[in-house]
Amino acid sequence: MSGTVDNRATGGALLSLTVALLLAIWCSSVLAGDAPAQDGIVKEQRPLLHTFVDVQVCGPGAGHALPAAFAEMERVNALLNNYDPASEVSAINHSAGGEPRPVSPATVQALQYAIHYGHLTGGAFDVTIGPLLRLWGFACEQPGLTGGLPGEREVQQARKLVDFRCLEIVCGHESPEKPCTARLTRPGMRIDVGAFSKGYVADCGMKVLQANGVRSALIAAGGTIVACGEKPGGQPWRIGVRHPRNDSSFLTVLTLKDTTVSTSGDYERFYTRKGKRYAHIIDPRRGRPVAAQQSVTVLAPTGVASDALSTALFVLGPQEGMQLVNTLPRVEALIVTAAGEIVFSKNWPQRTVIY
Ligand code: AMP
Ligand code: MG
Repeated sequence: MSGTVDNRATGGALLSLTVALLLAIWCSSVLAGDAPAQDGIVKEQRPLLHTFVDVQVCGPGAGHALPAAFAEMERVNALLNNYDPASEVSAINHSAGGEPRPVSPATVQALQYAIHYGHLTGGAFDVTIGPLLRLWGFACEQPGLTGGLPGEREVQQARKLVDFRCLEIVCGHESPEKPCTARLTRPGMRIDVGAFSKGYVADCGMKVLQANGVRSALIAAGGTIVACGEKPGGQPWRIGVRHPRNDSSFLTVLTLKDTTVSTSGDYERFYTRKGKRYAHIIDPRRGRPVAAQQSVTVLAPTGVASDALSTALFVLGPQEGMQLVNTLPRVEALIVTAAGEIVFSKNWPQRTVIY
């Protein structure tokens, strides 16, 4: 380790995520002018996924569907949460380099999505980013380093333990009743689901709402929001995208219908050293925190897609990132670079941005 100590950790992920979430909800409420008792929207907020998850459900059956959706999101989160020693993902991490671990269908599906986005983004998104997060002081509640910044040798050592291709998922074709298994091939490897679990879990919650007959709902989980249908009276859901340098103002306002939006930002979890900001998204190829973006917002058909892609585009940057986005159906992106430049994908719907 080298470097001098100027280690000012931020006020914690929960607070900043909460602010983003409240802004989103406030915006959706205020802009659409809803009042809970009048418009038939049932709302509930619960702490989940290291943030607060807000669900708004409209129409008949909302009162029954809402707790069912929370139960499903809590179930799936309990399987995936790598900070919970009892989760299936923690069991895979604990056995890295050893025996395969049995995993339930939701864990298999989530990890298969993660592997898919690893391939799609050329490794910019890597679900096995854990060792680099730990090295850079992000594998804990309060980000920061107790000593100096990691040296090049340590970075390269940790980087060797980051490779999503070493996450093996096996489902027995001969005996389909047997559970699938998952395994990390090398000791010291570690899965971290932080980049996509909010999106995946919100998708799971939305599926339960829809299975209960709900046609209009919003699930907001930190930086990811999943919208189904329209509000009663044909109003679209409206979401404010946080300004990356001013948490009390919006960069832009989006209308959502049957789509999802996720924002990744360098303001979420970071610390500073000698005036330089070190934020929680790490380039797996270089082994270092990405400093080239302030925020990335992605619209996509599913929460897991927008969540995974917003993190990946943060790593890829405007040139490579937009090249990828412009090949993906129903995916659009807005990037604010470190220099404050605003970059839109080809069909980004809302070009009024106040920066
Ligand atoms: P998000 O706010 O969705 O962009 O997720 C950021 C979180 O993703 C970080 O706090 C880490 O837990 C994790 N992460 C950081 N860098 C990467 C990466 N390159 N690939 C996958 N996950 C990452
Ligand atoms: Mg993400």
